[in-house]
Amino acid sequence: MTAPTAFVEGWDFVQTLGEGAYGEVKLAVNSDTQEAVAVKIINLEKNPSASEAVRKEVCVHKLLNHETIIKFYGFRKDGKIQYLFLEYASGGELFDRIEPDIGMPQQDANRYFKQLINGVEYLHMKGVTHRDLKPENLLLDDFDNLKISDFGLATVFRYQGNTRQLEKCCGTVPYLAPEVLSRKPYDAEPADIWSCAVILVALLAGELPWDEPTYGCQEYCDWKDCKITKSPWNKIDNLALSLLRRLLVENSSKRYTIRQIRDHQWYNKNFNRTALGPLNRLPSSPTSSPSGTSHFKRMCSGNELSPPSHTKDSFKHISSSQPESRNRLGSEGDTNSPMDSVDRQFCFSQPVHPDHMLLNSQVQGTPGSSQNPWQKLVRRMTRFFVKPDRDGTKKELERVFEHFGYNWKFNSPGMVTITTKDRRQYPLVFKAFFLDMDENLLLDFRLSKGDGLEFKRHFMKIKNHMKAVVSKVPPTWPLVPSQVSGD
Ligand code: AMP
Repeated sequence: MTAPTAFVEGWDFVQTLGEGAYGEVKLAVNSDTQEAVAVKIINLEKNPSASEAVRKEVCVHKLLNHETIIKFYGFRKDGKIQYLFLEYASGGELFDRIEPDIGMPQQDANRYFKQLINGVEYLHMKGVTHRDLKPENLLLDDFDNLKISDFGLATVFRYQGNTRQLEKCCGTVPYLAPEVLSRKPYDAEPADIWSCAVILVALLAGELPWDEPTYGCQEYCDWKDCKITKSPWNKIDNLALSLLRRLLVENSSKRYTIRQIRDHQWYNKNFNRTALGPLNRLPSSPTSSPSGTSHFKRMCSGNELSPPSHTKDSFKHISSSQPESRNRLGSEGDTNSPMDSVDRQFCFSQPVHPDHMLLNSQVQGTPGSSQNPWQKLVRRMTRFFVKPDRDGTKKELERVFEHFGYNWKFNSPGMVTITTKDRRQYPLVFKAFFLDMDENLLLDFRLSKGDGLEFKRHFMKIKNHMKAVVSKVPPTWPLVPSQVSGD
């Protein structure tokens, strides 16, 4: 990572959080108060077509204010660079909590699903449809509360009481409702509800049900024909399945509405809270409701319809073990690992006066001076410690990459980009960062392009093949990175 840059006095860019369709999202932290915001940076010189999409994203996102929606703080333009200031979701992405081919404990899926439904209900009440709901666009806060993000494809479908049908076919194909792919006008609300149902399958089974809901897709035909003895359906219990049966209904007018979802038994089921999943080990947030990059390339850019090309590039399928509990991040098997301590101790506050950032026009600046080492550690499961031997680790990584037939390139001594294809032959690009953490070296993997669960599958394969060098860090580990490089 290059030295953090102050883009506004007192605010430092401390980390890249992720990569989106048009640019990076960075974490900016106030050096005095430790307030944190996520800043989406769009370079219009590199992405001239993004201008209209960003304008629309801003227009829609600023209408929204709800606990399940990433807050929009403001927007700035500096020449060809646009900055969107957003609530920082320190808990990472929902897909990272889904164990490929397994999913997650039902009570966790139920909780996330309720939060998702709360958020979607709010959006619909505001007359807004998201149009790209998928786990990669669902972020988590410090208390594991779900936050809907990325309004790049969202649009208004109801204004002053007048509802309109939509025609644009956009989103991420496996999550799209059949009517969205049909190229006929369709209703916005049921289409979002269909995507929520596909997300629920991913949560419960760790895979997606089909590549696309069309008759050319055998898995979809099987579902329609009630042939549900195979994966993913055989991993899902009957009650949840009965809800899915009412949601993944081709005829959108017969699909369950949010009100009907709320009345369903699975939705209301009181899961045994003594068997706590990772979610439940953290204190519940006051915002949790009891009732409740871009990784696939999108089908439309700049909110404009593009043909439902169904190209390898435009689409994907998730695939495949129990989510590592959060406290196993650092060293598998430790129940009190350093990473757990990191997650618990390092907690940013959200800004009280985000407008401070927006008023100041200074963008380029001086390196931040008071960077907190914890700021490097956004919660993620796709990382592990190795012995502090950079050369040895590099060689070991190269051996593993070679073994899996990956293409890779060291962009800098501390960062390597890995390019491969997922099991459906869709492109998958991810990066690994070398982070010096006192006596240890942390290998931190981040998805750049492709499907989240496929990325996680590859991460786990790499980790398993590096067992010989993975180090178990003692819980007393001091938790101070001495130097961070790579990003
Ligand atoms: P996007 O451009 O919205 O698709 O974001 C790209 C990636 O940046 C996401 O997948 C997240 O990993 C990360 N990201 C985006 N927004 C936030 C946020 N508000 N807080 C934390 N991480 C974020």
